[in-house]
Amino acid sequence: MSFKTDLLHDNQVHQKLWGDYKSIAATHTSPIYQTTTFILDDFDSAVYLNQHVDQGFVYSRFGGPSSDELERKVAHLEHAEAALALASGLGAISTAALSCLKAGDHVVFGDVIYGCTFTLFAKVLTNFGVTYTRVDTTDPQNVADAIQPNTTLVYVETPANPTLKISDIEAIAKIVHEHEGMKLIVDSTFASPYLQNPIDLGADMVVHSATKYLCGHGTATAGMIAGRKELIDRCRMPFMQCFGAVLGPFEAWLVMQGMKTLAARMDVTCANAMKVAKFLENHPKIDRVYYPGLESHPTHAIAKKQMHNGFGGMMSADIKGGMDAVRKVMNNVKVFSLATSLGNVDSLIQHSPSMSHFDMSPEERYASEIYDGQVRLSIGIEDADDLIADLDQALALI
Ligand SMILES: *Cc1c(COP(=O)(O)O)cnc(C)c1O
Repeated sequence: MSFKTDLLHDNQVHQKLWGDYKSIAATHTSPIYQTTTFILDDFDSAVYLNQHVDQGFVYSRFGGPSSDELERKVAHLEHAEAALALASGLGAISTAALSCLKAGDHVVFGDVIYGCTFTLFAKVLTNFGVTYTRVDTTDPQNVADAIQPNTTLVYVETPANPTLKISDIEAIAKIVHEHEGMKLIVDSTFASPYLQNPIDLGADMVVHSATKYLCGHGTATAGMIAGRKELIDRCRMPFMQCFGAVLGPFEAWLVMQGMKTLAARMDVTCANAMKVAKFLENHPKIDRVYYPGLESHPTHAIAKKQMHNGFGGMMSADIKGGMDAVRKVMNNVKVFSLATSLGNVDSLIQHSPSMSHFDMSPEERYASEIYDGQVRLSIGIEDADDLIADLDQALALI
């Protein structure tokens, strides 16, 4: 089946893989299994399941039917053996990263990544004896040069937040796998599984903030990890089990409802984003537009090679006049909402230096091309002409 059909016919994917559920009355929409604990058949199955939590349900901190269904769907869409649902994107990222790291290890990560992921590697894990090197991962050679004898993890976000730099997953995976045991984790949040499948390109694990495109409506905070079963099992036990960033059944259900329209939303979002990016690129009050679909984008060629169905709905733009001009635009847009987060059906505008990336020093931000006059747009599914007119009237006020 094609991706678009798979998104809707989840019961088929589900029942094929999980035959026991056939005994439950078929429902058009999946039920929400709002329970913390599960009744076990008998003593022997209790003993067995407590040691094999991937094979049944015992207690909701190890997994439950609602998150299980979401996990099977995302694994299928990401062409992975297995997936794990967590309470947030950072829950997924920290769980996946911790499963690859111990005191004394070294991690290589991209110089442009989500602000809190930067905090995790540069300010939290350093307290536990994990060192790091930050490199521009758009040149795979930089990754090769940064690898040390104790490197166990390379972490790449592509497209990167907020400058939309694209890193070549296949080339980096080749470098990583020249070293035994080293893992590559790719944050593919900006692409969603509809636009990019990092496992096909050699990543060991792909992580998503499902809060964004997978859910798509701003109604649930959630995260996903997908990869080989052996790696996902390890993320579940002991890491999710001990750190407890488990996804609740209602949030799992909300993400699954949102995912049904992922492809349809993405098709409109990508088409709208391309129109808005072209409009901004030619606007006299804009210095630079960062959108991987534009030919002027420095890593457009890699985006074309490894993404499919479009280039996503995220872009940044440097407004001439710095912070004062940004204030003017953000206070005067009427269709765009002033809000962080992204990947929703409605369009959002935020100021990356003071919002999503506030935890970086100005020097670190400038080195990553996150300038004071930069706004980040998350393009939704409104009429593209309305979005363009809204930006046009706000920019005219500068
Ligand atoms: C939002 C985001 C995250 C964090 O996800 P949460 O669900 O907010 O924890 C991680 N990576 C990227 C690229 C994001 O945009």
